[in-house]
Parts: sequence; structure tokens; C-alpha cells
Amino acid sequence: MRPGGAPTPLLDRVFCCRSLRFDQVELVGFDMDYTLAAYRQPEMDRLAAEATLRRLVEAGYPPELARVGCPYDFPIRGLLVDVAEGNVLKMDRYRYVKMGYHGTRQLTRAERQRYEGRRPRLGSDRYRWVDTLYSLPDVAVYVAAIDLLEQLGPVDHAQLWEDVRVSADVAHRDGEVYRAVLADVDRYVARDPQLLAALEGLRRAGKRTFLLTNSGAATTERLMAALFDDAPRPRGAWRELFDVVVTEAAKPAWFVGQRAFADVDQPGRPVEHLEPGRLYRGGSRAEFERLVGVGGPHVLYVGDHIYGDVLRANVESGWRTCMIIQELVDELVADRAHAADLRRIDSLDAEVVELHEAARAARPCSAERARELEAERDGLEAKVDRSHHPYWGSLFRAGTELSMFGAQVEKYAWLYTTKASNLGAYSPYHFFRSPRVRLAHDGA
Ligand SMILES: [Mg+2]
Repeated sequence: MRPGGAPTPLLDRVFCCRSLRFDQVELVGFDMDYTLAAYRQPEMDRLAAEATLRRLVEAGYPPELARVGCPYDFPIRGLLVDVAEGNVLKMDRYRYVKMGYHGTRQLTRAERQRYEGRRPRLGSDRYRWVDTLYSLPDVAVYVAAIDLLEQLGPVDHAQLWEDVRVSADVAHRDGEVYRAVLADVDRYVARDPQLLAALEGLRRAGKRTFLLTNSGAATTERLMAALFDDAPRPRGAWRELFDVVVTEAAKPAWFVGQRAFADVDQPGRPVEHLEPGRLYRGGSRAEFERLVGVGGPHVLYVGDHIYGDVLRANVESGWRTCMIIQELVDELVADRAHAADLRRIDSLDAEVVELHEAARAARPCSAERARELEAERDGLEAKVDRSHHPYWGSLFRAGTELSMFGAQVEKYAWLYTTKASNLGAYSPYHFFRSPRVRLAHDGA
């Protein structure tokens, strides 16, 4: 609810997995990349993929690869790459493979069923979990390369994945990607006109704020200045938006390590306090909590990476977490557009159950009618899936279950929303209340 009683628009809402009293939060922290800086995914994908492909060709792959067309609309978060077979998979929360592709060819039912006896484990050598928006272009390059290279001869799928990953990492590490972003910020970053007011509003409401990013100090300075230091705000004014700014944090190790903080502006100066207006490097969560005097449930950390930002913050330190999921915009729009189809699927399910009961009571025509309704339901489910994503369907669901990604959001994020500024729309006393847990027997 907005002040004045108007309901918060759907795309501005903060959704709640676990109840949280906002008035108990004293400190609100933000990640930078894909959290405060909302990158335009198609532009970033193209930039990263082209840099990766160039490096693969330099490393000895066929020159045709530099010109290959990548399916940028193929990858989503929450996919699993089976590097032994060269397959890309989507699992439900129980690790059942619900869909899969080899290159851009969809796996047959028989190919998928081969995973049933040995359900993939996220941590095993054979599988790579795709959980950051940074790694989406790697998957687009991987499937395009498989399609092309398999026409030319046998392919070592595991080696190919490692080569794609190394090439992509080098492009990020040597600064090629950031240089392009900083040279044309508006091409790569979607400015959020509400963000400045949201950050200022949190502090007016009595909360302290901090920035905690893995990016380097120089990059952070330039990107934040580009986002916030528009006229008439003076250069460097962005630093005043935060009580503490930590760069080169090395999350997720930051949450468990014991590193000291370094002062970026005065190297070598011992850090005995974390002061507003200064830039720090490194440090650790334990040292941070000691110096600011706040920790555990009184900290809310806002980030986009389930492992680096959300899981570690929550599991290791008891910090409350808010996950930024920019794909949620498309998901909510598709859900709303197909609300009638989703209701029809539910009612078809109920009718089918009744018809099966009738068939058991020796009314054989019921079984035939049930098959017709099941075919209608399957058709509707496929239509709804395609509207969510052309290759994978919903990000959060897999069939009637949560997808593995959806399950991780539910498990580790206290809150989730489409963009960081949405927090600014809520009163500092807001009670984020989780939906009542429902089991199959509820409402029976
Ligand atoms: Mg990030």
C-alpha cells in the first residue's frame, strides 16, 4: 500500500518469502552490479559474448566461431550445464530434469529420462550451475559453439565449457567489458529515476546505508558517479548516499573471512572506524559488524546473486536479504496476461481427477473424456510456458513444481523484487508478511 492508500503497482512490489519487520532493520546494504546498476541484459550479453568469441578464436578455435550468431534469448538463470554431454538442463526443486537442450536442439524425452537414475548434483564436477546474469552470455556462446563445431568434427564438451569460461573471465578481468560500459553508460545501464530518492528516503527514515561490491574501487567510483552525480549534484556526491562504501569485497568469502579493511583514499592508513564519504577495500563481515556496531537480523542486504549475495549473507551471518530479480518483470507480465489460462488449467486438473474417479466406478466413457481434458490442459500449459520464455518457460516454475532457481529464491531470500528502488516505496515500519504456507491437504 502506498501513502494515501493506493495499492503499490505490481512491478514495484516487494515480495516476501519470510516475514520481516522493516522497523527492526537498522542498516540497509546494496550490491552494485545488477543491483544498483541495472544493466541492460541484451546489450551486456552481446558485449560479453563477442569478447569471449574473439578470445576463443585467438586460442585456436575455428575463425567461423567469431562470426557465429549467438541465441541471446536462450539462457536463463537456474540452468545446469552438463559438461560431460554438452547438454543444458532445467531442473525442478527435486533435481528432476524437466527440459534440456543439446546446442539449440531440444532433448527428447528418452534423452531427458537418462538423468532420472542419477539426478544431477549442483556441486559435482560434471555440472555447472548458471546462477548469475553475468554467466548468461557464456551459455549462449556454448550452445552456439556446439551447433557450429559439431558440424566440423568431434567436440570435447567439457573442454569447450572451460575455454568459454576462461575466455569470458579474461574479458572481464582485463577490463575490456567495464571499459566499454564506462565509455557509454547509458547504452549498458538502465537508469532508475526512483533510485536516488529511494536511497535518500531510507536515510531520512533513520536507517543507515552501505554499498558492498566486489568491483574495484576505480570502477565503482566511475560507475556510481555516472549514475548519481548528474548536475546539479557535484562530482563525488554519490559517496554521501552511503554511510559506508566497501569495494573489492571478494564476496562470498567476505562473509566468513577475517580480512582487515584498507582505506582507498589514504593507502596504509589504519582503519579504526568506517567513515562516511570514504572508500574502503576488502575487509570482512565480522570486522564490518564490529566497526559499525550492528549485525545479524538488523542488517538487510540487497543483491542479485543468490550464492554470492543472498545465500552467504543469510546462512553465515543471519543478515536479512532482498534479492533483485530483474527477470521478474517479464514473469509477472506473462502471469498476468495468462491469468485466465492458469485458472483454466487448475479447473481442468480438478475435472480430470473427478473423471478418473468416475471411470473407476465402471463408467468407461469418463476415461476418454479425461484424456481429452488432459490434452487441453497440456496444450494450455505449453502455451503459457512459451509466453514466459521461448525455450524454458517460467523462471520460477518447472511443471507444477518450483524450478530449482525458484526453490533457492524461496529458501534463501527473505524478500525479492524487480529493482532496488522498490524498497523506497515502503514505510520504515512496514511489516513484510510471508504468505501462509500451504500443503496439499490445506483447503481440502
Ligand atoms: Mg551483483
